[in-house]
Amino acid sequence: MEIKEFYDYMKEISKIQNAAALVAWDMRTKIPSKGARDRADVMGKLSRMTFEMETSSKMAEFVEYFNRSKVKDSLNEIDKRNVYLATKQYRRGKAIPPEKFEKFMIACARGETVWQEAKAESNFQKFKPVLEEIIGYLKDFTDMFSYEENRYDALLDEFEPSTTTKDIQKVIDGLKKDLIPFIKKLSNTKRPDDTALKGKFDRSLQERLSLEALKVMNYDFKAGRLDETEHPFTIGIGPGDVRVTTKYDPSDLRPSLFGTMHEGGHALYEQGISEKYFRMPIGTGASMGIHESQSRTWENMIGRSKAFWKFFYQKLTDIFPQYGKISVEDFYKAINVVEPSLVRIEADEVTYNLHIIIRFEIEEALINDRVKVSDLPDIWNAKMREYFGIEPSNDAEGVLQDVHWAGGQLGYFPSYMLGNLYAAQFFATAQKEIPDLEEQISSGDLKPFRKWQKEKIHRYGALYDPKDLIVKVTGEPLTHKYFMDYITKKFSEIYEF
Ligand SMILES: [Zn+2]
Repeated sequence: MEIKEFYDYMKEISKIQNAAALVAWDMRTKIPSKGARDRADVMGKLSRMTFEMETSSKMAEFVEYFNRSKVKDSLNEIDKRNVYLATKQYRRGKAIPPEKFEKFMIACARGETVWQEAKAESNFQKFKPVLEEIIGYLKDFTDMFSYEENRYDALLDEFEPSTTTKDIQKVIDGLKKDLIPFIKKLSNTKRPDDTALKGKFDRSLQERLSLEALKVMNYDFKAGRLDETEHPFTIGIGPGDVRVTTKYDPSDLRPSLFGTMHEGGHALYEQGISEKYFRMPIGTGASMGIHESQSRTWENMIGRSKAFWKFFYQKLTDIFPQYGKISVEDFYKAINVVEPSLVRIEADEVTYNLHIIIRFEIEEALINDRVKVSDLPDIWNAKMREYFGIEPSNDAEGVLQDVHWAGGQLGYFPSYMLGNLYAAQFFATAQKEIPDLEEQISSGDLKPFRKWQKEKIHRYGALYDPKDLIVKVTGEPLTHKYFMDYITKKFSEIYEF
């Protein structure tokens, strides 16, 4: 058997995935409301087709043949990795009986609907039965996937390959020790005034600003576009087509601007993957955490930096002249207010990771039967008190705030935290390797940094596991140290202590 046969087959899968991505993009941006119901069936059909091809008897032949040790040894690094990823997908797909998986998918679809109602009514009891059902399936699946130490490892593996519960626990232990006292210190210091950021912001002008930001980032508009949506996302539709979406809040331009930079960071990653990897299993990001690190870099480490606003403030005041009255220094402080808050997606870059730690601790205990679904509201509130010193007044702004559990996505949250930590570690390396990075950012020349990201991270796609990639780029395994150094330096200056 020739490796070309395997690649031809993978190309066919990739084409169906591209069609599914286009349908998904349409469903979340442009589709007329009456068309949505039927289109869900189209989506279902395309997902089933992909799944069937990934677990077909043809794929079984490839997996069997290319994993024979003699054949495997004759493959180059790229072929080996592609076979490895396809094999992993095959085995995961085969581990669960299709009928059981279908029931799980139906429970998740119902879960999301019930969750929406339960959240609107702030009624956890309503969500409890379907969540119990979903968690039940996930427990069964983890046992079918097999894991070495902790059930939670099997869940993590889908989002953060080769990263274990133990790895995450270790990072969290270090982070907690340094981060919690730092947040306390910030809370006891006078916070910058951000009232000037509120106002009335025309939708089309916000769009102009978002486009301006993407241009500065060197986002390739010939290989993508920007559209409006309810819950912003980035999606790769295929080679040469990576689309960004954002949301416009008429009274605050932060969500659209920083949201666009966040999604733009994801898009640069996808646009930067080597063309040689198109339609191969490695033609995607290394993991959710690495992906998130790229978005966080642009949103926070660049987008909320002093250097960036040295040149970008002029562009902002050109479009929104009302900002002419506020100094760039005050503006910079205002976009960097730190405040313990109840809602994860509204959290600042300092307190954000605490929200993830809470979710990780709950998920890990839940999947290992150390807590019950019915205990979740109490546990949630207790952890909010412990970590933030505040408590939600109802479950809608507490345990019911995120959609992830309703969609069966346990194991996803840690990627957000890892993303913040990877971002800081990568950025520290970039600062070492590009000595005048700061001046370049201040003058609006982001090309050298974009080139650095592409060369060091993006072009490899999923050729390496995240654990190996971080060592390859930065010379050491993931540590929370760089994140702490970054926020300590930045925020002790802003908060003047
Ligand atoms: Zn993201």
